[in-house]
Amino acid sequence: MKPVNDAMNNRTSSRFDYQSLVNEIVRDPEVAAFIEEHQLNAEEIKRSISNFSQFISERELYQRGQGSYLSKGYQPILIMNQGYADVSYKETTELIAAERAKEIRNRVHLLNLPNSLRGISLQDVDPDDRWGTIQELTRYLLNYPQDSKGFYLYGDFGIGKTYLLAALANDLARHKEVETTLLHFPTFVLDLKNGFDEKTYHRQLNQVKGVPVLMIDDIGAEVFTPWLRDEVLQIILQHRMQERLPTFFSSNLSFDELQVRMAQGRAGDETWQATRIMERMRFLAKEIHVPGQNRRN
Ligand code: ADP
Ligand code: MG
Repeated sequence: MKPVNDAMNNRTSSRFDYQSLVNEIVRDPEVAAFIEEHQLNAEEIKRSISNFSQFISERELYQRGQGSYLSKGYQPILIMNQGYADVSYKETTELIAAERAKEIRNRVHLLNLPNSLRGISLQDVDPDDRWGTIQELTRYLLNYPQDSKGFYLYGDFGIGKTYLLAALANDLARHKEVETTLLHFPTFVLDLKNGFDEKTYHRQLNQVKGVPVLMIDDIGAEVFTPWLRDEVLQIILQHRMQERLPTFFSSNLSFDELQVRMAQGRAGDETWQATRIMERMRFLAKEIHVPGQNRRN
């Protein structure tokens, strides 16, 4: 159809050429169907010819994957506009799907965790011997936001704890339009320490403590200090408890094992501080043991 436009733009073309072009244009199956559908008369067809021609060349570009002034995700279509044909562009299903995927992605904030965790869903997690956990997480998803209590998933290294949390985060974004921050706790702690000045510390802490859903991944694997317990975790958890904000954890340690770790203080035994923080964690999250084999190899 390219010659159609070339000739239309060529002012020296004769009356005869023009007429044959018009004939060619109105024989185009989509143009013909449009004329039929809207019962255009000769005068209306005449006024529509240049737009029909534009439609045909835009359609060719679109079919070759080279959208002209518009991006590739828009398909040219013919519409009626005040008595004659006009070209309009509609979002393709691919574009709509891509935009939706982007919206979902933007609701899941991964801090120091790989992007490969995006896109997975509880539906396609291989259940293995983790049926119980998957059921609990699925129930949480379906009930959201009714249950304010999250989960504390613990179990051996490599069994898919992070994977399961990420699947839930993606599904919350997809089905409930909820924003989740999933952070790798040991790295978060390092960043907090390295960039330490009062301002950064407050900014980073504030950023994290008020997010709609917070998932603290791999707690217990960080370099533990009483500062971390009392000035970081305590502040985050206290806020989330008061505001009833859903909070999840993953760990290699059970609650009891974590409690022992949390009791290591400057002055030796700090059982009271450890008990206090563990009370918050138990309030926020239900402990679930995740069984299974290491899947990393
Ligand atoms: P953990 O956090 O318990 O140490 P991960 O979530 O990092 O374990 O999972 C370990 C590895 O197994 C990762 O590479 C992850 O992508 C993969 N994995 C975990 N669960 C599944 C699953 N259900 N299907 C496919 N791969 C999985
Ligand atoms: Mg993990």
